[in-house]
Amino acid sequence: MRPEMKEYNYDWLMSSALSAAANLANGTQKETDLAYQYIPYFKGVTKTFVDGGDAGVQVLKLFDTYYKNILTAHERGKKICATTFCFSPSILYAMGVVPICTELLTALGNIVWRRGMFDYMDYASQVGLPETSCSSQRGALGAYFAELGESIDFIVCDTPGVCDTNANAFAFAASYMDKPYYALNYPQNIGDERSQGYHVDDYRELVRFIEVQTGSKMDYDRLAAVLAEVEKQDAMIADIEDLHSLKPTPLSPMHNIAVYAGRFTFSGHKEYTTLLEKIIETAKKKAKMGASGLKTGKEKLRAYMFYIDHYTLDMNFWNWFDDNSIAHMGGMLSHHFSDTIGYTESLPGIAYHLDRSSPESMFESIAQLNARLPMVRSVRGPYDQPNMWLEETLALAENFGADCLIYNGTPGCRNTWANVKLMARDLEKHGYPVHVMYDDAFDDRVESWDATKERLEEFFKVRGLI
Ligand code: SF4
Repeated sequence: MRPEMKEYNYDWLMSSALSAAANLANGTQKETDLAYQYIPYFKGVTKTFVDGGDAGVQVLKLFDTYYKNILTAHERGKKICATTFCFSPSILYAMGVVPICTELLTALGNIVWRRGMFDYMDYASQVGLPETSCSSQRGALGAYFAELGESIDFIVCDTPGVCDTNANAFAFAASYMDKPYYALNYPQNIGDERSQGYHVDDYRELVRFIEVQTGSKMDYDRLAAVLAEVEKQDAMIADIEDLHSLKPTPLSPMHNIAVYAGRFTFSGHKEYTTLLEKIIETAKKKAKMGASGLKTGKEKLRAYMFYIDHYTLDMNFWNWFDDNSIAHMGGMLSHHFSDTIGYTESLPGIAYHLDRSSPESMFESIAQLNARLPMVRSVRGPYDQPNMWLEETLALAENFGADCLIYNGTPGCRNTWANVKLMARDLEKHGYPVHVMYDDAFDDRVESWDATKERLEEFFKVRGLI
């Protein structure tokens, strides 16, 4: 790694940048506009969130708090757990542990810094993590491998099968950094009693593991409080999903990433509830006027991302939707599967139910919630089986009135690249124009944003969509 990269810690740098960006919105419009002249490097990303109004500013505050929690964890006597976006942090909050969601940290570095997370990714490969592994973990993990972040105390993830490259990255991290590690088995089936029972038992073991790491027993009152907050958030997400189904959608493209970034960082925590409140407030105002959430004010068509987004500099990907009057109808990461949400009715067995009546039912609830997270839910086996990738995509595309479907992933994503052409063929048969993006969602060296944008524009033009 370049010596200058080692001068500052990754998490401290990010915290400082996001904290300054969040504070910028406290000034008057004139003050904010003047301040942009002094931060040319950060202007693009800051302006996108600040222009997003209360919800956008709340996103900056939430990220700022996330990094501050990490930076102050040890002085507050808390343990830090490195984990993945397909593992709900709610159990960690219930047990007083500070989570680090590696994929989110990589995405944020890419969005905020022109230099991206490239040096950290390369460093991770230099110490042994294959460059064919998923870039989403490699970026943030590289910084922690180089000891450019708070020291991680233990690691929790989901097992291979859901995503081998993801699980192997955490197994490698545990061995390289010599940290205790728990791999939660992914459930073979969703909604099947035997499989669900096995998953709850496994989850119980996970909780025992965390108890050993923290030296404290699970506090069921605290778990109940966290689950009560999750329940509240699920009801709010159901409202957001309803608002998103309106034509035009009152949600902006940025709201989609806000919904899932908030869930990956603060599920069950009040920070996320505040963010959801702001999104609902903003979207309801627009909906009342029948207005579009897009900056251009008109919705020409709707695109559904049937995998993940593109985490390129300055929120360029989401801004591109805005600039072209294309509504971003969310993707595999943003949509949610609690039984409070309407579209889950068309996918029997897919939804989880929260029950806080006893310690037993709380275990069952939180384990089933975890099993409904992205990838664990629908990218863990044959793409065209019940409730898997194809069925889920078709149900969501129909629910949100998508006009076209777009795939984006990482070259490391073997679970999706193995099927993506078959998926595209099947989705086209259902009448949806499909575009497969060939960039790396987290590494712009694979394909530049300019090239990606040109290919997107070509797709919309050639298919006669705009
Ligand atoms: S499924 Fe794809 S994007 Fe998700 S962790 Fe695995 S390789 Fe990365």
